[in-house]
Amino acid sequence: MPESDSFKFVRCSHCNHPVDINFAKADHDGKAMHEECYLKSLQAKIEQNASRATRAQSSNRRPPGGSGSEGANGAA
Ligand SMILES: [Zn+2]
Repeated sequence: MPESDSFKFVRCSHCNHPVDINFAKADHDGKAMHEECYLKSLQAKIEQNASRATRAQSSNRRPPGGSGSEGANGAA
């Protein structure tokens, strides 16, 4: 497929609107996105990672008096 440098539109994989390929961002999957949508998806990913890290930490620490709904607090 010959690539020309002409004006081209692709669909943004985030919002599904056409995005000028000359200004599109590509995520790590090679999908085109608006720069704005790229930033949004990046932000969402960061937040996902952050909440995952937080969850891992809190499951390691398991603060006393928290949500002991797993039956660990059955005695006494
Ligand atoms: Zn978009």
